[in-house]
Amino acid sequence: MSIVTAVTVVSVLVVCAWCFLRWLIRQRWRRNLPRELRNAQLVYAERLFRAVGQVTLTARLDRAYRLQDGSITLLELKTRAVHRWYPSDVIELSAQAYAIAVETGERVNRNAFVEVQGLDGRTTFHRVELLSIDEVEALILRRKALLAGEARAQYACSIRLCQTCAYFDQCGGRPQSGWYPRRGPRVGARS
Ligand code: SF4
Repeated sequence: MSIVTAVTVVSVLVVCAWCFLRWLIRQRWRRNLPRELRNAQLVYAERLFRAVGQVTLTARLDRAYRLQDGSITLLELKTRAVHRWYPSDVIELSAQAYAIAVETGERVNRNAFVEVQGLDGRTTFHRVELLSIDEVEALILRRKALLAGEARAQYACSIRLCQTCAYFDQCGGRPQSGWYPRRGPRVGARS
């Protein structure tokens, strides 16, 4: 066997091994997905959508899968110390669903998933139910009213949210926290 032939054979073997490895990894990843998504097709990743209408909203989604019935299911990726979802995940995903539905006319499912990649190396999936279109629009209109000074902000429902809030110095946090002299959430501070 000539050197050229030997190099060609080795190259082909390396490429085959690489493809097989990728296929194995993909199969393993698919097996870990929630049952609904195992046969779904990934149609959008890391993409920005913009809804323009009664309210305008821009949202970047992590992953969107097309199910066999043609509808879209969203998945949000998070890296966290604890394997759980938060209400803020539902709001993020609902905004994404709203933006993609208005921009593309796609049928987006009310069920979505939060994929948590834990610091312990495990990955878990959490099914959440999204807000309705009316609820998303109400949230957007409330935000506008807050920014315009036409509505009064409320404290976060959990003191734990205040502990990591970027606006804590301006706001003082939820009253029960007792950490700071309380001034109340400023208009525009997010909860
Ligand atoms: S804005 Fe104020 S009440 Fe809301 S999470 Fe931040 S610190 Fe807490």
